[in-house]
Amino acid sequence: MRQSSLVVVANRLPIDDSVAPDGACEWRSSPGGLVSALHPLLRHTPATWVGWAGGTGPAPALPDVDRVRMHTVPLSSEDLRDHYEGFANSTLWPLYHDAVEQPEYHRRWWEAYQRVNQRFAEATAEVAERGAVVWVQDYHLQLVPGLLRELRPDLRIGFFLHVPFPPPELFMQLPRRAELLRGMLGADLIGFQRAQAAHNFAQLVAKVLDLPATDRRVGVGDRVVRIGAFPVSIDTAEMAALAGRPDVAARARRLRHDLGDPDHVILSVDRMDYTKGIEQRLKAYSELLASGHVKVRDTVLVQVAVPSRERVTQYQILRDRVEREVGRINGEFGRVGEPAIHYLTQPFDRAELAALYRIADVMAVTPLRDGMNLVAKEYVAARVDDTGTLLLSEFAGAAAELPQAYLVNPHDLEGLKQKLLTALQADPADVTARMRAMREHLHRNDIHAWARSYLSALDDGGSLLNHISTTG
Ligand code: UDP
Repeated sequence: MRQSSLVVVANRLPIDDSVAPDGACEWRSSPGGLVSALHPLLRHTPATWVGWAGGTGPAPALPDVDRVRMHTVPLSSEDLRDHYEGFANSTLWPLYHDAVEQPEYHRRWWEAYQRVNQRFAEATAEVAERGAVVWVQDYHLQLVPGLLRELRPDLRIGFFLHVPFPPPELFMQLPRRAELLRGMLGADLIGFQRAQAAHNFAQLVAKVLDLPATDRRVGVGDRVVRIGAFPVSIDTAEMAALAGRPDVAARARRLRHDLGDPDHVILSVDRMDYTKGIEQRLKAYSELLASGHVKVRDTVLVQVAVPSRERVTQYQILRDRVEREVGRINGEFGRVGEPAIHYLTQPFDRAELAALYRIADVMAVTPLRDGMNLVAKEYVAARVDDTGTLLLSEFAGAAAELPQAYLVNPHDLEGLKQKLLTALQADPADVTARMRAMREHLHRNDIHAWARSYLSALDDGGSLLNHISTTG
């Protein structure tokens, strides 16, 4: 087995299987932010990515992606049901997002979570060379740092949580809360999206495990585990370049024309998820239509809602409810050739998304809770002429970095309606000043800066950073 000095561990490999025109199955790299963030580093360092390739058959042998070796961890259909759909997405996901849906607790799911985390830890131990840096990603794999440290105490282990980390009152519900915290504490550095999450974590380890903890470090025996906020970002320059491309500009003009050249385009782009606040947004919009504050003649709402986790019941129920509501609103307020809501469930590729961002006068990003929300950042990056209004939930991680957005509490229906109207009627000079400030922030704090700041903290005096401090 070839070994690497840098190993990224994530539930999914950064590739998608797709079907070629001739019907053959082929692999292509998915445009994951993490791959591009690590790109400058990976040019110099032999790296391996450990993850699941999708599917439940035997693990396929995969080609390198951007010179990164792919090391596949197989999952059975039981693993998929009980680890991925169960513990990860029906226990942890709702619990970590303010329990906006009821988290479910099942012992069988916990067993699968342990089993799958063990398999990931063993696969990582195989491919990491002596003293390697290992970076474990996200809530699917919270036990991996602890399990890996037992197998390989020589490694430098980082863990980054992409989703929110909840306040103690919520986390305390978890039947296996102590084990999960101990699993994370196997890392040398634990990164969160927001400072509040690091604070929640410190409070919990003090309370549940009786360990000495501040918002920056936790004492675990003779080890110190550092914790902190490292807000994830996007490839700002790439999105700006895409949005500025002539073919994307032409596509944007055509889209706006196809929408009837309205005065105002409002856009929302979400995965179909109960954390995204889609229903609350539709309700606010429908009430504005009913009261006549918004007219279908001059304003359109484009809602992209890409289905996800479709085997999980709560997601099926949500989709049905959203589609019923869109149907009702279009039936009640639409006119022939002029629907009130343009509702789209097919996924858009990056160039099409950039075109959509370009035509959105108001981008409504109103999740009930979100670790970061990259769509909000992509919109800002795409507004190369400094126009456009971002309506942003206070409960998205991005709000901590983009105070110039029109911030809103999506639970407050009247407040949401008011802010939407304010955004639609905003003074152009004010809009430009806000957008410029947000764009400057994202220019400095892009995904390269994120990877650099996290890995420099993790590597702490090691040689890894010699490669990325001068590149990216
Ligand atoms: N996205 C996409 N095509 C779509 C809809 C979304 O490529 O049709 C991408 C979007 O550009 C963003 C990501 O999916 O990079 C969604 O990330 P976000 O943090 O907003 O939400 P998540 O789905 O991770 O909860």
